[in-house]
Amino acid sequence: MRHPQLNEHGELRHLLTIEGLPRDIVTHVLDTASSFLEVSDRQVKKVPLLRGKSVFNLFFENSTRTRTTFEIAATRLSADVVNLDVRTSSASKGESLLDTIDNLAAMHADMFVVRHAQSGAPYMIAQHVGPGLHVINAGDGRHAHPTQGLLDMYTIRHFKKDFTNLTVAVVGDVLHSRVARSDIHALTTLGVPEVRVIAPLTLLPPGLEQMGVRTFTDMRAGLKDVDVVIMLRLQNERMRGALLPSAQEYFKHYGLTAEKLALAKPDAIVMHPGPMNRGVEIESAVADGVQSVILEQVTFGIAVRMAVMSILAGNR
Ligand code: ASP
Repeated sequence: MRHPQLNEHGELRHLLTIEGLPRDIVTHVLDTASSFLEVSDRQVKKVPLLRGKSVFNLFFENSTRTRTTFEIAATRLSADVVNLDVRTSSASKGESLLDTIDNLAAMHADMFVVRHAQSGAPYMIAQHVGPGLHVINAGDGRHAHPTQGLLDMYTIRHFKKDFTNLTVAVVGDVLHSRVARSDIHALTTLGVPEVRVIAPLTLLPPGLEQMGVRTFTDMRAGLKDVDVVIMLRLQNERMRGALLPSAQEYFKHYGLTAEKLALAKPDAIVMHPGPMNRGVEIESAVADGVQSVILEQVTFGIAVRMAVMSILAGNR
């Protein structure tokens, strides 16, 4: 059965997950993003591709980078952007998610960018909306964060050129991380031969081996000779019960320090989706060090989100 994010021609209609996305679509997004990168350096930072379109940012969960870069991306494409403030919207008066969606669709929205604590919420909206509307998942529960996955791939390609000779380590709270899941799907789709996950046993989800991933509970062993280190935040808001002794204990075993990073290849890059908790999963010397590309990820995120929106708008 065709995935609901693809139209009858196999093109992207919504972006809900990287899982199962054909490699040529992933590559097309990255190539399109390359063409948008210079727009942000222009004196007039705008192209008219989404002129006359209305993009609704619906963030039912907190966000700094994703919400802002979606807004910047949409305005650089000349779209009109509406940011629904969920705290002051009728969602807080008990309106159901789909009723909210129907009302916004009645305002002739063209695109919904949705973040929700409930895994599957963007999927449900995509199933519900009429044919002219596009839905982009901006992070749903612990399930997926496809534009983060794509911007991470863009960053890796920018610095490392070729995916097919890389060893990439994803480190930290993989159990609760939608970023980890999207990154792992993207890395395997793009042909990365060795994807490693490094985490304490309590934060390792089952089924990783079936995804072709090598798991490590010893960070030093897992970091040996890697090209890319992707650090994750502890998702305390999604944890039930005590999964870790303490933040200090976690940092001791799984915090990225300069001393541990020295085990990776000398030109390894360090990534983090943000928000960072310094002293919990990463020390400042590394976060601000020469191998860190964390702020480049943010910049590339704009071009990648412009690419996704323009591709969706073109696939009607
Ligand atoms: N910003 C990312 C997300 O929304 C990562 C994080 O929150 O740790 O999933």
